[in-house]
Amino acid sequence: MPPHGDQVSNHHDVVVIGAGPAGEAAAELGGNLGYSVALVERDIVGGTVVTSGGAPTKTFREAAVYFSSFEKEKVYGVALSAAPEVMYPAIRARARYVSERLRQITLERIRASGVHLVHGEARLEAGHTVVARTGSGAETRLHAGRVIIATGSSPLRPPGVPFDDPCVFDSETVTNIGRKPRELLIVGGGAIGVEYATIFSALGVPVTILDGAPRLAAMMDDEISGRLEQVFLARGNRVILGTGMISVHRDGDDLVTELGDGRQLRPDALLFAAGRTVSTAGLGLETADVGVDARGRIIVDSQRRTSCPWVFAAGDVIGPSLASVATDQGRQALCGALGLDFSVHVDQIPAAAVYGLPEVARVGKSEEDCAAEGIPYATGRCELGTTPRGVIAGQEGLLKLIFHGGTGVLLGVHVICEIASEIAGTGQAMIHNEATIEDVVRMVYNTPTYTYGYKLAAADTLARLHPDVLRAMRLPSQAHRI
Ligand SMILES: Cc1cc2nc3c(=O)[nH]c(=O)nc-3n(C[C@H](O)[C@H](O)[C@H](O)COP(=O)(O)OP(=O)(O)OC[C@H]3O[C@@H](n4cnc5c(N)ncnc54)[C@H](O)[C@@H]3O)c2cc1C
Repeated sequence: MPPHGDQVSNHHDVVVIGAGPAGEAAAELGGNLGYSVALVERDIVGGTVVTSGGAPTKTFREAAVYFSSFEKEKVYGVALSAAPEVMYPAIRARARYVSERLRQITLERIRASGVHLVHGEARLEAGHTVVARTGSGAETRLHAGRVIIATGSSPLRPPGVPFDDPCVFDSETVTNIGRKPRELLIVGGGAIGVEYATIFSALGVPVTILDGAPRLAAMMDDEISGRLEQVFLARGNRVILGTGMISVHRDGDDLVTELGDGRQLRPDALLFAAGRTVSTAGLGLETADVGVDARGRIIVDSQRRTSCPWVFAAGDVIGPSLASVATDQGRQALCGALGLDFSVHVDQIPAAAVYGLPEVARVGKSEEDCAAEGIPYATGRCELGTTPRGVIAGQEGLLKLIFHGGTGVLLGVHVICEIASEIAGTGQAMIHNEATIEDVVRMVYNTPTYTYGYKLAAADTLARLHPDVLRAMRLPSQAHRI
């Protein structure tokens, strides 16, 4: 049985620092298992998800689709879009409402699990101690059997970028944008950059994405990110790859931006979304001999234990990733900290999505991965715009499946479509259950759905590999090839 600590005194089995997804998950698991857990948060509970990450960005996305009647104009021939002076304040208000609602829900969950929530900025002290200091200078000393650091990350703010300019934003400030920019430059073509680029484009702003990488959303399958770029360009935007921003300064209404390739851009608004840095300043890691790598990320072992035997770490602070991943890392750190012998497994094949317009998502191996690892593979494709759901919605998209060339087991799923993040979930379950081409083909899916595309994409694979088998099974065949 868990050794119950005393909730009233400041002695706890575990003290967790940071109430984002990683810290919340760790604290709640400990509380629900009956341990005495204190959770120290300096800002609001919920972390980046609630303040400036997943919730605000996805709310902006929903609002952009609604206010701009995104892509429905050409389907129905009728424009329903709202005026910018109405849109921007309403989008901001909605994002604030969603954040506040999620904060409340998170707080209720924390309270329900019996966790002792402490407000303040935490730092480590010797002798298993965490000190939480409030803005007024009041300090609470917490003594912990184990400490879990889950302090997350924040946007990278390189010197030379004038973040004090009201028209220069990062992911923490862009949600306060109050007016429609004339032209927006986004530095960074990763998930955050692409999400905001497509959102502002839907709101009628000409957007340029600038990134030193050779392609957008480089974490996605080549073909899918190529399609994403085509869609973005077709909407009248610009993508500049393979070079970076050298400098930026204000000249009247313009932000004069010099690029590495000698070009000059003159947008009136700039979103810097190129990288994140871990939040460890002032934590006193050196006091407890907690080791970090060259980029300042806390180094942990497979149980999330740091170089200090009583300190564990999880979430973005060990390497910026995803809220979904951080949550399971938090639970794993709790188990490691308390020596619980049921192991919390952190999924080695997590799904990932970029919630742009359209969304792109992946889970498992890409063609490039298979080629690099020498794995024989076969692909199947379904053009989602030709499925009944796609025709009804007037939406294009691609579902691409990667099967093992020998065993026929599903290895990877790659999607571009309005709800790619949802569609990838079906494939993720199949990958984890080692479904074969035949399994995927034989399932009866709801229709009209985009998920029905799995049947068609698997049938496409069969058609490529064994056309005679497909005929014998009397299954639909489609020659959706790019
Ligand atoms: C714009 C954007 C969009 C995103 N979209 C998605 C998405 O769609 N899906 C997804 O899965 N992930 C998304 N992410 C990533 C996701 O937000 C992070 O991976 C996740 O929040 C990491 O969780 P965490 O608990 O490690 O850290 P955080 O969420 O950063 O939480 C850390 C907490 O620690 C607190 N803290 C820090 N230092 C101290 C201290 N010294 N004392 C006390 N408290 C402290 C902070 O106030 C914060 O509340 C997005 C991120 C951004 C920026």
